Amino acid sequence: MTTQARAAICRGHDEPFAIEEVELADLAPDELLVRVVACGICHTDLAVRDEQLPVPLPAVLGHEGAGVVEAVGSEVTIAKPGDRVVMSFNSCGHCPSCAAEAPTYCYNFFPNNWSGRRADGSPSMTFGGAPMNANFFGQSAFATHAIAHERNVVRVPDSAAAIPLERLAPIGCGLMTGAGAVLRSMKVRAGLPLAVFGAGTVGMAAIMAARIAGADPIIAVDVNDARLALAKELGATHAFNAGDDAVGRIRELCPAGLGYAFDTTGINAVIEQAWSLLAPKGIVGMVGASNPADNLTFNEAQFMGGGRTVMGILGGDSDGGAFLHELIEHHLAGRFPYERLIQTFPFERINEAIEAGESGRVVKPVLVMGTE
Ligand SMILES: [Zn+2]
Ligand SMILES: [Zn+2]
Repeated sequence: MTTQARAAICRGHDEPFAIEEVELADLAPDELLVRVVACGICHTDLAVRDEQLPVPLPAVLGHEGAGVVEAVGSEVTIAKPGDRVVMSFNSCGHCPSCAAEAPTYCYNFFPNNWSGRRADGSPSMTFGGAPMNANFFGQSAFATHAIAHERNVVRVPDSAAAIPLERLAPIGCGLMTGAGAVLRSMKVRAGLPLAVFGAGTVGMAAIMAARIAGADPIIAVDVNDARLALAKELGATHAFNAGDDAVGRIRELCPAGLGYAFDTTGINAVIEQAWSLLAPKGIVGMVGASNPADNLTFNEAQFMGGGRTVMGILGGDSDGGAFLHELIEHHLAGRFPYERLIQTFPFERINEAIEAGESGRVVKPVLVMGTE
């Protein structure tokens, strides 16, 4: 049984997203039909719009969806109709990374998330009778309904029944990435200094997680003073404007060097400066979307002699459901107050929501498609 849905089609940088009537395919045995209640807007959606990532256009994007399960395929056990779920990235389940519970580094990430089709090549959505690129991060949740998979659906625990789905939606991408980078990838130790470069959703999540981990001091660096003020409310002990000799001020504050430098900017010069601030055994963690032509340069003696690490990080090394449940518990306990970052917009105002995010006015815009 096919399903009619309304979905926001992205045709590229020069056209606004357009909400159109589309049709979702029959469910495969390992798929779920989710009525989308809300979906966060993330930098990655806009990188695809701007053709910085190899996702074919036109496409239905959206990868921070939350909703209610309407139907499930014959092999699905992760959730049942009526369950509240959050959708995250998809993975293959059988490659060496998936076998090591590191699905963010799935060897088959592209066909499962970015090809515009299902991993087997079949379309999951049609528009005007022709296949439409969808299955983005295994969901394409800028829509009233989405087809998701056994491996990228996380059932919302009963303990979180009181948290609205519009708040839970963004937890499966940027928030997971920033918090996971601190708690899982870099495994930040209590008492060591940490600096976060770029105070967007990912950076703010890292700051909240650094407070959970007990890092000290926790330094936020950004060019936007309003965001720096919010970073201090969320856990940063110090906030430096990048234009105000942030590097010099960090050296002054932490003369022995940083235990951890976390870059969310992807800017070559920022990463190299962050590297130069590291203490012995220090780690620079990188999650920013970089220019594909960029190469990093660092001193070999300092690298080897100091036992320093340059760490590429995807999705905060999330293992999927277990880590998202951990973040929801932190949120319920008041340790991960990421609702401060969110502003909601009706689905129809998707282009206004994107503009609010890109201008920096809103840290995390979340679209609301319907009621729970
Ligand atoms: Zn994202
Ligand atoms: Zn895999």
